[in-house]
Amino acid sequence: MQKTVHIIGAGISGLSAAVRLANAGFKVHLHEATQQAGGRCRSYFDAATNLTIDNGNHLLLSGNRHAVAYARSIGTEAGLVGPKRAQFPFVDLTTGQRWQLDLGDSRLPTWVFDEARRVPDTGLLDYLALMPLIWAAQSKPVGDTIPCKGTLYRRLVQPLLLAALNVDPPEGSAGLAGAVVRETLLAGGQACRPLIAREGLSAVLVEPAIRLLQGKGASIQFGHELRGFGMSAASVGELKFGDDTVAIGADDAVVMAVPPRAAASLLPGLKTPTKFRAIVNAHFRFDPPKDMPPLLGVVGGLIEWLFAFPQRLSITISNGDPLVDMPREELAQAIWRDICKASGVQGDLPPWQIVRERRATFEATPEQNALRPGPSTSWKNLFLAGDWTDTGLPATIEGSVRSGNRAADLVLAMRSA
Ligand SMILES: Cc1cc2nc3c(=O)[nH]c(=O)nc-3n(C[C@H](O)[C@H](O)[C@H](O)COP(=O)(O)OP(=O)(O)OC[C@H]3O[C@@H](n4cnc5c(N)ncnc54)[C@H](O)[C@@H]3O)c2cc1C
Repeated sequence: MQKTVHIIGAGISGLSAAVRLANAGFKVHLHEATQQAGGRCRSYFDAATNLTIDNGNHLLLSGNRHAVAYARSIGTEAGLVGPKRAQFPFVDLTTGQRWQLDLGDSRLPTWVFDEARRVPDTGLLDYLALMPLIWAAQSKPVGDTIPCKGTLYRRLVQPLLLAALNVDPPEGSAGLAGAVVRETLLAGGQACRPLIAREGLSAVLVEPAIRLLQGKGASIQFGHELRGFGMSAASVGELKFGDDTVAIGADDAVVMAVPPRAAASLLPGLKTPTKFRAIVNAHFRFDPPKDMPPLLGVVGGLIEWLFAFPQRLSITISNGDPLVDMPREELAQAIWRDICKASGVQGDLPPWQIVRERRATFEATPEQNALRPGPSTSWKNLFLAGDWTDTGLPATIEGSVRSGNRAADLVLAMRSA
């Protein structure tokens, strides 16, 4: 008989679990509280700019192999667009200096030996000083592990770790930072090509998954928020939604792929991260100049990454809590000034939108990292997924996909047990 799995939450974690299990022949029921799939990784039509925008600019690297494999499994790997070589143009807004970091296309970090390709004004010894990060303990902060000052830090380590951890790097978990460095910088240019869902997050990472699931007979219910579980002995016996209750058969499984706060209220006593950080994104309706790179790293300013999309310039500011309450118009003006300096464009503030995701990621400090649970629970048919579960990575799409795959594998193991 076909086995049944209920997946709670249609973010990237839930979708990746659902796709894996539907492909393995499971009858999948996906329950999503909101009216849209994608969670923190979604697109929507924005009236202010008259464009479809993403809630946040999401950057993947070619070394995010589970995320890329997930895109492949839903037929959209080609929708993750990036240059052939791992090249990152940067500008320093305080000095006006521009440079290009060229990580090349090797499987080894050979670029550090080449003065023309590494960060200007840095030497080999600066890179060797980063080595302790590679084997750092989870309990240590970055600031106790590597030098958090100097040219290499300012021009490369700080932007990379800030984007990956979404905290000020010295306070971040050295263990998580080390995982990022091992899987990207240390794996050479081939693992560092920047990839962007150019046609939008939903078009590339969400809607094709929903179509695949529907094609395999999955049921997908939006506006279907799980309110509680009915437990029987060692298993989940019921899923309690607002107006209906779903009975869970003895061999059926449940994957809970909701954010930590929802998970903690659904499963009292569950250990989860309790602190979060914001990410600020701003989108401007503006045709990028033809010579503008798709991604520009910015140091010494308010903005950190500038993305050029068709008809739109967008920026990201990580660890954005100090900006969450700043008046919107004032923030938009300040960001636009940085964009003009960084890209050389001129003009009055074009139509804009600011998206401030207050709880964009859990706080990737050693203390919060220690609160991440694994995928198994005290109930034998209930598994956890989510970027906040203990994936060994910060809260990223790569971590989400890994968590979804891992929960799916445990469901598969339950079937074969
Ligand atoms: C602004 C921003 C920028 C980011 N940039 C990057 C980036 O550049 N690169 C990168 O790799 N990652 C980035 N991330 C992180 C990435 O978006 C997340 O790691 C990922 O989307 C998390 O997916 P998830 O499925 O674990 O959780 P979520 O996306 O939070 O999905 C959980 C789902 O569960 C649903 N839900 C909640 N409660 C219930 C309930 N009771 N019943 C049913 N459904 C429920 C929610 O509505 C949601 O759809 C960014 C995140 C943000 C917010």
